[in-house]
Amino acid sequence: MSWRDWVAAQCRSIVEAGQWRATRDLDAAGPAGMLIERGGGSRPVVSFASNDYLGLTQHPAVVAAAHDALDRWGAGAGAARLIVGSRPVHSELETELAAWKGTDAALVFPTGFATNLGVLSAFVGPGVRVCSDELNHASIIDGCRLARGDVVVYPHRDVEALDRALAGTAGERSVVVTDTVFSMDGDVAPIADIVEVCRRRRALLILDEAHAVLGPTVAPDPDVPMLRVGTLSKTLGSLGGFVAGERAFVDLLVNRARPFIFTTALTPADTAAALAAVRVLCGPEGEQLKARLAAHVERVMPGHPSPIIPIVLGDERTAMAASAALLERGLLVPAIRPPTVAPGTSRLRVALSAAHTDEQISLLVEALLEILGRAA
Ligand code: PMP
Repeated sequence: MSWRDWVAAQCRSIVEAGQWRATRDLDAAGPAGMLIERGGGSRPVVSFASNDYLGLTQHPAVVAAAHDALDRWGAGAGAARLIVGSRPVHSELETELAAWKGTDAALVFPTGFATNLGVLSAFVGPGVRVCSDELNHASIIDGCRLARGDVVVYPHRDVEALDRALAGTAGERSVVVTDTVFSMDGDVAPIADIVEVCRRRRALLILDEAHAVLGPTVAPDPDVPMLRVGTLSKTLGSLGGFVAGERAFVDLLVNRARPFIFTTALTPADTAAALAAVRVLCGPEGEQLKARLAAHVERVMPGHPSPIIPIVLGDERTAMAASAALLERGLLVPAIRPPTVAPGTSRLRVALSAAHTDEQISLLVEALLEILGRAA
């Protein structure tokens, strides 16, 4: 079979499975904008599809910092960090990320995805047991594969199963890796219980806090080595990823993490934007923005712990139809379906932001009631 025939057959099989996906453009600065249809034409929408949880992509201090960095250092960093691609702003960002997370050190990567690949491949290896929650992000799954460890996938949030998976590893190096907020369900990992298991089983704990804007908070335990992965691209409104932890662990990553070593440094503008965003986040305005976001969550799904609100509808067609009906009302709420989630759990995924207005949240709640006969 020729390559062209093979590609055509692959594409056809995805279409026939009802799983074809394609990108769409949203011409927007903030939640409101114009959705550009693939066939031409556009329509005004309010987006509930972004992970810009605090609206910091648009914050004047963040935008100004990116402008200033562009003017001072130009567009690209030009080299990998170890080939002296760093600008002072990279080190400054790492210092402030470490202070925010309460760790000795932090290291910035090109994306959160690359961070998980780098961290897992540096600390896991053949013969090392790595226990991973079944709903962990794709970058964790791929990081485990890349590391060629002894991977055990444990049932979602099941601490007893995790404990059993670590039995017999005492004296060996083992790793537990989990999202703290799960990206398609918006639920949270039982962190304190997991820390306790790691303490007893002497495992390294890797936490992915990409979506942890409203918590859960993580209490360090001196007996549990911990690496905290985050992204600059969601709460911090920029682009890039990072890991925070003990100095020696971070120094080892500088020397071993291939997605850090063999890639160009983050652009100065992205780095400066993230630095300005950390400063907003850690100041009084950050608290106000988080309180505003939490209030939005309360209106859409009272008691829910994160701004990711899943509305599980079952089959793909039902989820697609609900998403289309919301779009008719000017609300962009993506349908998430297999292979991103398990078959039979297709859903709407509502992502809320402090940048949404109270009126936009009202429109969403009313539309959900009308279309689904229930709120989220
Ligand atoms: N971890 C989790 C839990 C995520 O949801 C994501 C992004 N969807 C990532 C890591 C990757 O982060 P980034 O977008 O910065 O590559």
